[in-house]
Amino acid sequence: MAETCPFCLQPDTKIYLTAKEGILRKCRRCHCVFNPQRANEFDADSEELNTGYNALIEKMAGLDAQIGKKIANFMAAHLEMSGNFLEIGCGTCFLSKVFRENYPRIRYTGIESSSKFFDALSHELKKQVFFDKDLSAALDRIPDHSQNAIILNHVLEHLPDPRATMLELKKKLSENGGIYLEVPNEQWKKAQIMVRNILKPNAPAWFAGHINFFTKENLGHFLDHCGFRVAALKRESIADNQATFIKMLGGEEVYRDNRLAQFAYHLLRLTAFEKLIRYGIVLRCICKKN
Ligand SMILES: [Zn+2]
Repeated sequence: MAETCPFCLQPDTKIYLTAKEGILRKCRRCHCVFNPQRANEFDADSEELNTGYNALIEKMAGLDAQIGKKIANFMAAHLEMSGNFLEIGCGTCFLSKVFRENYPRIRYTGIESSSKFFDALSHELKKQVFFDKDLSAALDRIPDHSQNAIILNHVLEHLPDPRATMLELKKKLSENGGIYLEVPNEQWKKAQIMVRNILKPNAPAWFAGHINFFTKENLGHFLDHCGFRVAALKRESIADNQATFIKMLGGEEVYRDNRLAQFAYHLLRLTAFEKLIRYGIVLRCICKKN
């Protein structure tokens, strides 16, 4: 059972790679890559995640505002920016702030499974967020066909049953509503692991908690299989997303002191190298009901 593809539910899968953290399998039908250990490794209340958490929120606030604007602009090109918007795994709710300032007709609701994230929210934001460890239970509180947009920003790669969740979310969408999805782009996963091993020998082969690994192609197939049509799906280059690059490095202060990182960023911008090799650090997508 553990070797059945969690995306298309076919049993025809093979070993994709073996690392010290375990193995990843690849579906021969839909080409999705997954960790056969389907327990949700993402422990939202883990010490690792919460150490210095409040300090981290403050340090990243400016970057999150820039990242949030990029996301909102992408959504605005494909969705009506009004009515009910639901964010799954809303964390610090940085998107709600962007919406409030730029799209006041949006009514925002979040769902969060980490008590630390939830406890850190302001009194006002707590009124807009459901805290629940069980996503299905939280979704039961959202009326069917009620949401103009649902946001999954770096969430799908953690979900033990991504197909079941997408089908549940589909029921919550209004007729013309859409889902905003953002996931890491795992194109050239094996090459990435090799490079990371050279740069940082003890780095894990994949981030703790990631159990689903997407490329532009297999994400499109997966959404199609769940009965969605893809309105937009693109690879986002680091050169076009400086705030994301700085956040990944550890924040503005780290970036300011890291000449090599600054050089690398400007080189990527000048050469448009990522576009040349058709790579992007994340996949950003809007899908709608078929
Ligand atoms: Zn499959």
